[in-house]
Amino acid sequence: MLSGCCNGIVHFNHYSDEGALLAAALVNARLDSAADVAELAGEHDLLLERPPSDEDAAGLRRWRTALAGVVDAPTTGERIEALNRLLARGTSHPRISLHNGPPHVHFRPDDVTPERQFAAITAFGLAWFLTQRGLHRLARCAAGDCTVAFADVTRNGRQRYCSTRCANRQAVRRHRAHASHLQ
Ligand SMILES: [Zn+2]
Ligand SMILES: [Zn+2]
Repeated sequence: MLSGCCNGIVHFNHYSDEGALLAAALVNARLDSAADVAELAGEHDLLLERPPSDEDAAGLRRWRTALAGVVDAPTTGERIEALNRLLARGTSHPRISLHNGPPHVHFRPDDVTPERQFAAITAFGLAWFLTQRGLHRLARCAAGDCTVAFADVTRNGRQRYCSTRCANRQAVRRHRAHASHLQ
């Protein structure tokens, strides 16, 4: 039986927008157990080649810290250095895989642990996305009481908040501050 790493049609996306979205989600994710790893994979249509273990969860908590280093890099130069460290750690030479539908490129060997699947997709996906779409397109929410990380996949690349909810909360806050000035 063939085992899948991801849905064949969206392979390219897994290593671009989807990879960057998954990287941001991983920074925000709860990763206490194997079940948390399975849930994150499910939310992003990532088909794991092996069932996740608690060791994968532990490995991904370390990987989460490395990804957060890219999010929180204070300068573009440091962001690029952090991305290069991720690539060195998370990917291996590209390889054409036949495991699931049409031939497609992986940046890892076949049949690896969930930790390595996540690492290859998020390292290459994030590096590809940020260099193609703009190195600023990874940030934390600008709402004062929110630290959620997000990849900005919008057309204009000017996203400031993690969600519509945070954007609306900030708008209400600005409105209140303005109203109190007028009193
Ligand atoms: Zn694949
Ligand atoms: Zn937010």
